[in-house]
Amino acid sequence: MSTRRRFIKQSIIGAASVGAIGQLSAKTKRVAPLRPIVISTWDFGVAANRAAWEILGKGGNSLDAVERGVMVPEADLSNTTVGKGGYPDRDGHVTLDACIMDSEGNCGAVAAMEHIAHPIQVARLVMEKTPHVMLVGEGALQFALENGFERDNLLTAESEKAWKEWLKEKKYAPVMNIENASFNKERLPGNKYNHDTIGMLALDQAGNLSGACTTSGMAFKMHGRVGDSPIIGAGLYVDNEIGGATSTGVGEEVIRTVGSFLVVELMRQGYSPREACREAVERIVKKKPDIAKDIQVGFLALNKNGEYGSFALQEGFTFAVCEERDQERIVQGEHYY
Ligand code: ASP
Repeated sequence: MSTRRRFIKQSIIGAASVGAIGQLSAKTKRVAPLRPIVISTWDFGVAANRAAWEILGKGGNSLDAVERGVMVPEADLSNTTVGKGGYPDRDGHVTLDACIMDSEGNCGAVAAMEHIAHPIQVARLVMEKTPHVMLVGEGALQFALENGFERDNLLTAESEKAWKEWLKEKKYAPVMNIENASFNKERLPGNKYNHDTIGMLALDQAGNLSGACTTSGMAFKMHGRVGDSPIIGAGLYVDNEIGGATSTGVGEEVIRTVGSFLVVELMRQGYSPREACREAVERIVKKKPDIAKDIQVGFLALNKNGEYGSFALQEGFTFAVCEERDQERIVQGEHYY
């Protein structure tokens, strides 16, 4: 399978990803929107996209696809940044954050929820069964249990070991998450990454967009800390007339700039997905240059035409693309620094 994967630079696929709506050059012009298509953050997005494609490829809807897709990393116990197996907070609690948004502007979210392995399903239920958008902590857990979800222990032996290792020094700092960066691995127990969210965006055959975002947040975060991922407008935003955006990285900076909403609004003004993501990254740099240089944030966007793009603060951000002609592509995101 991995031999079929293609690793390419985003700039190489510029023709597919950087044209603004209605402004594609003759060379890049498309007669019809490219769909269905699903994109998601990081290399682990490949497996997630594959699950989403089982629905999209058969003409299914984008909401079902993104929910099913992100459940893959949620269930992957070796993934220490999403779902069960995610690293706990500094008090040893695994608390999960997730949100989902459909093509009609409906959305649901859970934050700081413990004991439930698939927060994205609970987020969808909040959207569909309550008059609310977000449930947090004990209330989210209560709602999940009342709706038939099973209570689970989300702290795996491996994550517990890493936490105990971390407790020896208890250094609390959001370490820059750059894959392959040796200094990062040195600072994290077990050579693992301390944060990485799956954000997924899908455009279905019928032309409808949905998105989902799920994470265990920062490893060893303060108990009760919630990042951007479950916050509509920050970690995820979808407007079916325009496109969708999602983010990964240090959530505090994304919340401060309402990043995903910003990306979608820029696309509304005619920016390509890539240019919109770049502008959102530059906004973070402009507001907090001293913080921005030491952290990672990556944005990913998909517009109504099926064009996609990304931009990150630092090198190392990747995303996965799945469409009819190529279902396992990993793209290296461009970066500011
Ligand atoms: N955005 C997530 C958070 O701040 C973490 C990540 O994507 O790396 O909780």
